[in-house]
Amino acid sequence: MRIVLVSDIHSNAVALAAVLGALPRYDELWCLGDTIGYGPEPNVCLQKMRDLAKYALTGNHDLASLGLVSLADFNALARTANQWNNQQLEPELRAYLQALPDRLPVPPEATLAHASPRDPVWEYILDAGTAQVNLKHFDTPLCFVGHTHVPTIFVKHDNGKTEFRRGTPGEILELKQGSRYIINPGSIGQPRDGDPRAAYAVWDTEAHTIRFNRVEYDISATQRKMRAAGLPDMLADRLAFGR
Ligand code: ZN
Repeated sequence: MRIVLVSDIHSNAVALAAVLGALPRYDELWCLGDTIGYGPEPNVCLQKMRDLAKYALTGNHDLASLGLVSLADFNALARTANQWNNQQLEPELRAYLQALPDRLPVPPEATLAHASPRDPVWEYILDAGTAQVNLKHFDTPLCFVGHTHVPTIFVKHDNGKTEFRRGTPGEILELKQGSRYIINPGSIGQPRDGDPRAAYAVWDTEAHTIRFNRVEYDISATQRKMRAAGLPDMLADRLAFGR
């Protein structure tokens, strides 16, 4: 089975459409949360996930946009965007988002968590130490997370050695029996690894591989929509830099 992993779409429907248009044949699509917040088209993105995603999570920006976590936990720009996203939501899409979990076991092989299995809403896994501690908080060989907007690979090999690094564009990671992994496919709607292209990954459960992919999209189209909506300039600007 080929499973497409997407995360942190952040209301960027132009980037999402580019990724969906570039996808190879696949069997399932799983969404790791933060479908809204930051960007200009929350309803389009939610609708797509409702139609396409077999499993989907909520993230911290989703919860903030729903008014379910405090906006005080966000910087002023993110807060403004979350409030704006809240005001746009169509009732049935709000209900869809509200019903999603922030963490989901998909036995026997995978666990999904927006941020980390230990703290699915807030924790950033950006180093080996944080990843290592999180191994205790799930029991499957694989855990998929989003939240940092950086494609990353953490692996604990069966000899006890660990490795934490970026997943590079086009890379095909071979999954080893007995090793455990925390994988972040990167962000579709607001990449932060210096590469502005939309990021996603494909897990091939038969070939035992995960491929990291990037797709170019019309960044200026999203920026225009953000400016037309009155969203903060800085949030539009950063899309061009992938930061
Ligand atoms: Zn995010």
